[in-house]
Amino acid sequence: MMDIRLRDLFDEMQEGLYLTDNERRITHWNEAAERLTGYTAEQVIGSKCSDNVLMHVNEQGECLCMGECPLRDTIFDGTPREADVFMHHKNGHRVPVRVRVLPLRNSNGDIVGGAEFFSDVSSQMGVQARIKELEQLVLIDNLTMLSNRRHVEAELDRFLTEKQRYDLSFGVLFLDLDHFKNVNDTFGHNVGDLVLKTVGATLKSCARPYDTFGRWGGEEFIGLIRNIDAPNLRGLGERIRGLVAATMINTPCGKTLQVTASIGGTTARQEDDMESIIARADKNLYCSKNSGRNCLTLS
Ligand code: GH3
Ligand code: MG
Ligand code: MG
Repeated sequence: MMDIRLRDLFDEMQEGLYLTDNERRITHWNEAAERLTGYTAEQVIGSKCSDNVLMHVNEQGECLCMGECPLRDTIFDGTPREADVFMHHKNGHRVPVRVRVLPLRNSNGDIVGGAEFFSDVSSQMGVQARIKELEQLVLIDNLTMLSNRRHVEAELDRFLTEKQRYDLSFGVLFLDLDHFKNVNDTFGHNVGDLVLKTVGATLKSCARPYDTFGRWGGEEFIGLIRNIDAPNLRGLGERIRGLVAATMINTPCGKTLQVTASIGGTTARQEDDMESIIARADKNLYCSKNSGRNCLTLS
């Protein structure tokens, strides 16, 4: 047997660790556990882990000690477990921790207790939430709250790959508001912005869960429509054209404005890349402009 001071190792660990017997009575409590919970070894050794001390709760605040206690289950069946729970700190607040539970066995292999490792994940949780928030900010156009061009391009790239690999069909609708410069010139830029926002809300309401509607730039919008053939894309394009034309913009001066959009649409082809599909939709949009605006051209 090597002569190792396991106690030092136990106290040097970053993770909190405590050991219990089969009744979940605490027998060992390391320094990290003291730091994370505020309880000293002296205060907890000899008590059961559910006695006022840790009282793990789940995200709904339900106490796990009497119900689904991972430690109890592991002592019962010998299977290691992991769980994200909230631990009770001596000062009263709750600390989010990831716990890992292992059975402790004697030399005969009989379970004689359990070991629970736990680490504080509060800083990780904050970082993860912040990353999610930043991802959103990077992908959303903050005037219309639709996808921004960067996100639309990433989605289009994904749709094109899926078309090539799995022949999943999709269509593109390219919209440009008609005579939008007049709106700005007559009512001012703020009203122009309000128009873009309101039209954006109409487009959002047309989107099914897997479609992407975005602002391509200025007063140009784009829709990527999944799983659609040309006749249905025409139907949807016409519906959107009608809904944009019927959108009422209430200006601060009390006047209600309406705008129209010209639309170019196309369905994806096997050989398409981003440039070719956008060029085709754009060419069709140009045809709609030349045909008197407020109309849809598809090819
Ligand atoms: P057409 O029917 O040919 O498309 O005419 P149009 O006036 O819409 O076309 P044009 O491209 O000449 O004008 C687009 C205008 O959109 C010019 C620009 O001032 C305005 N615009 C672009 N981005 C914004 C924005 O973020 N807010 C506002 N208010 N106006 C914008
Ligand atoms: Mg334009
Ligand atoms: Mg325009």
